[in-house]
Amino acid sequence: MPLLGAHMSIAGGYYRAVDAAAQLGMDVVQVFTKNNNQWRAKPIAPAEADQFAAALAEHRISHPLSHASYLINLAAPDDVLWQKSVDGMIVELERAEILGIPYVVVHPGSHTTSTEAEGLARVAAGLNAVHKALPKIKSQLLLEITAGQGTNLGWNFGQLASILAETKHADRVGICFDTCHAFASGYDLRDKKTYQAMWREFDELLGLDRLKAIHLNDSKKGLGSRVDRHEHIGHGCIGREGFHHVLTDRSLAAIPMYLETPKEDCDGEPWDAVNMRVLRELAGER
Ligand code: MN
Ligand code: MN
Ligand code: ZN
Repeated sequence: MPLLGAHMSIAGGYYRAVDAAAQLGMDVVQVFTKNNNQWRAKPIAPAEADQFAAALAEHRISHPLSHASYLINLAAPDDVLWQKSVDGMIVELERAEILGIPYVVVHPGSHTTSTEAEGLARVAAGLNAVHKALPKIKSQLLLEITAGQGTNLGWNFGQLASILAETKHADRVGICFDTCHAFASGYDLRDKKTYQAMWREFDELLGLDRLKAIHLNDSKKGLGSRVDRHEHIGHGCIGREGFHHVLTDRSLAAIPMYLETPKEDCDGEPWDAVNMRVLRELAGER
């Protein structure tokens, strides 16, 4: 049975995300460890980390995952923004380590005014700088596949592989797969044949053992649209069949999966509750 959860709010304390996840019957949880639209953050007090760990243990929620700030752009051609991004990524990993979170998801970045090749090299150099600054840290980075909107890099497995090939410590980098992003970038999860071909390609270019997390989002936009708009499970262009493939895939059984769907109500019930129910159904648990 897949390990299912969602990105939850840390408003009021890190433990609040865990409590909320438990109330919705989740197995796993993703959080931001700081405001995702700011560079600065106040240090995490030991008591906050203890409360977070206690909440995870109490509710038996495993695989806590953190998502890095959206401001970070390791592909930035601008040296000031690139250095800020490296420093920001260091802070993200340090905060994850304090909270006992093993992985931090980050988008590879946007090459903006430079080229794809320069951007990919820039990301690899950024990872090198982060790893050099934190030789002993246990928390690791996960590069997330993107939808390829604008100049966003990492929207196919080949681009992610070239970042890994160029970085010095590829053994310290994993991958986060996002269903919406992969579909929008052109991987058709709806058809069993293309679904299976996709994972074969993933294994050849990246290695399945690098896959450490999956984001479960349906897509408002079509296959290959290169537009990143998340939709509730089964209500978008991927549809229930595509998610059925993911949720019943035995080779993904040990990979934690997190919803990142809009936080709204559906007829007075949180959409997270509805989406969790749909996921459990599609996994064959009910
Ligand atoms: Mn993401
Ligand atoms: Mn995602
Ligand atoms: Zn997205």
